[in-house]
Order: sequence, then C-alpha cells, then structure tokens
Amino acid sequence: MPTLTAVRENPALLKLDLYCKGARLDPSCVDGSGAGRGLMRTRAGLGSGLELVLPGGLWTNVPVLEAFAQRSPYLVRSDGEAFWLERDNERVTDVQLSPRPTWYDAKTTSGKPMTRVGTLQGTYLGVYPAKVCDYWVPTEKTNCHFCSVGLNLGVDDASEKSVDEVLEVVQAAREGSGITYVDFNTGHYEGDTYLDILEPYLRRIKGETGLLIGVQTPPHHDLSRYDRLRKMGVNRVSFCFEIFDRDQFREVCPGKDGEYGLDRYLNAIRYCARLGDQGPRSEPWVTNGEIIAGLEPPESSIAAINWITSVGAIPTVCVFRPLQGTDYEDREPPDTDAMVPVFQRLYEACMEAGLPIGCAPNIHVSLVMLPEECAPLSTRSYRWHWIRLGIMKRVFAAQFDRRLRAHASPTQSHPG
Ligand code: SF4
Repeated sequence: MPTLTAVRENPALLKLDLYCKGARLDPSCVDGSGAGRGLMRTRAGLGSGLELVLPGGLWTNVPVLEAFAQRSPYLVRSDGEAFWLERDNERVTDVQLSPRPTWYDAKTTSGKPMTRVGTLQGTYLGVYPAKVCDYWVPTEKTNCHFCSVGLNLGVDDASEKSVDEVLEVVQAAREGSGITYVDFNTGHYEGDTYLDILEPYLRRIKGETGLLIGVQTPPHHDLSRYDRLRKMGVNRVSFCFEIFDRDQFREVCPGKDGEYGLDRYLNAIRYCARLGDQGPRSEPWVTNGEIIAGLEPPESSIAAINWITSVGAIPTVCVFRPLQGTDYEDREPPDTDAMVPVFQRLYEACMEAGLPIGCAPNIHVSLVMLPEECAPLSTRSYRWHWIRLGIMKRVFAAQFDRRLRAHASPTQSHPG
C-alpha cells in the first residue's frame, strides 16, 4: 500500500489509490446541502461515486457506495466549507467537490430533467442517446459481468433522447460549464444499428456547436463507416474491448465475444488509427482502445497497452470497480501496488510512440487516469515529446477557439 507521504506528494498515486480503495464519507459531508454533483450513477457502466478534484487539478470519481469503500482507510470530511481527505486519522490533503452546474436543475423544453439527457463526467458531457444495450435484454442477458448499464436504466437516465433534446443540453452545458467535448456512447444493438442511430446527433451537434465530438460503440462490420465519421468531423472513436487475454475476454464479456470477438475490436482500432491523415485537417482525430485493469493480470493489461500504442491508438485504462448490483459486485477491487506498473506503462508507451496526449482544451476526466496524468508515476522525462505536445496544444487551442467563435450565437460573446 502506498505510504501516506507518497500519496501526499504524488496526486497521481492518490487518484489511483482512491480508485482501488474508495473512501468513506463522514456524516459531516452528507448533510443533504446538495453541494457538488451528488452520487448519480453514470452510463459508462463503471462509474458511481463522488466527483472530486484532487491537488494538481486531477478530477476523479471516488467509489463511496460499494462494500469495499466502507472498509477504506480514506475518509472524506468537511467543516461545512472546506473538504479534505483523511487516512488513519491523519489529514492527507484538501479536496474540492466538482462544481454542480446550474443546468443540472433545469429541464429541456420537452420537460425532461437535463441530467436525464446528459451528465458531466469530469469536464466533458457524456450522452447515451438510445435504448439499453441489447446484451441486457432478459431473453439474451449476455451482458459484460462488470457492467451496470442495465441496472441504471430508468433511474438516472431517460432511455430515448431526441436530437433536439440533446442539442439543448449540449448548449446548456457549453454555456454553463464551458464544455469542449461531447461523448456519445451506445451498447450493442441487433443489426449493427448504433452508428445509424448516432449519425443524426453527430451531424447536428457538430454542425451547430463546433464542439469536439466522439463516439464509443462496438466495432461496425463495415469499416468504411469510420471514414464517413472522419469526414463528418468526428474527433474520436473509442472501442472498449476491456480484456486482452482471450480466455478472460470470453468469460468477462460473453456478449461481445459471441457477437464480435476480440479480433474485430482490434481490427477496428488498427483501421481507425490510420485515418488521422485523412479528412478535414482542421479536425483532430484520435482512436482509443479501452481496457479495464484489475480483471486480468497486470502483465496482460500492459500487453494490451503495448499493442494499442503500437498501432497508433491511445489506451484508455479504467480501474475495475465492483459496482453494487453487478455480477461482479462481490469481487475485490485491484491492489494499488499491482496497478502502478500498468499506469506507469500507459504513460511511457504513449510518450515513446509520440502520441498526441493531453492536447484538447479543458478536458478533465474523472472515471479514468489519463496517460498524461500518470507522468508522476514514471521516472522518465521525455523532454522533447513534452515540447512537441506543448506546441500541438497551442496550435490546437487557437484552431478550436476560431471554430467556437464561428459557431457562437449572437448572444454569446468571446472576450478579445
Ligand atoms: S457492451 Fe457490455 S459494457 Fe457495454 S453496455 Fe453492453 S453489457 Fe455494458
């Protein structure tokens, strides 16, 4: 277990340790005052918890509801104004609750609470526009065993959302929270219909707001659909294959294994990673391969990271969280010490491959450790790539600002 001094000095290690151990909430910070964003489940399937900002500007989602979190050495406390973390009765650090946006209390013109259409995950907007993943349909029920998506439905999230409703919430989130990125997520639907469902949302949101947009769906059998997304101005595609070990993939994700198989995920990642040179030059493009660390041996997660970066894609690495109500709720979360080499490798592999990490403006992610956030876990410096990234970041920010100005409505003014 990392020492108290180590987590005090290294916010990346603290973020990782909190994913693995969770935290208890002292009664002093659950007074029902409505501060922060509350404990809404998200639709990503792996999150539920308290959204906090740690020192160093690291946004995180700390497990607080699960059984393992009740045994955590960490305790979140408050004196009514400030919040801080304690471990074994010693203060670790001050923390902030993620601000609760004013639009979280608003409704769409159609009368739906806006939070049932989209929610902030860190500083970007996550939207799950369509019905629940077909793997949760009772006659089939081949859901991934860690997943909570089918448990959330009808609780925190409306099942179907119109394009108008989504646009309204995106605009509210842009004005109220300064979002720069909207992430569209679907599960599996019979007949590979997920991209057909998403395209009208993507065209409208891109066309009317100019924001960065991304898509996380299963891998479509017709890979030319990704050329089309690239031309449309989509900025990110993400494929969650979760587990790199083939036997464990079959066991953990029976639906994905039966319908697609691991190779179709890997082929789609390889294909999409090559599309960066095509399409509108002004639109950045990244491909992500997403895995869950803690459900297979660390060496296998590291092998997945090495493979993803070798084809020019960027790994997204979640820490396994045994969510309440899921098939794996009785499993233990991973041990922090076993996870450190995985996240160290995440950073080093991205830097060695010269990948464009951390370049998009104002994107903080609470559900995962971003590769660039893992730099303090490594002793290597990668000075030249950091200089390159700094230049890319400035060029990209200027381009993005120009595009936002071009899309600003007459009531929205940009200083300068
Ligand atoms: S594909 Fe798996 S992880 Fe994704 S929503 Fe369906 S059951 Fe959940």
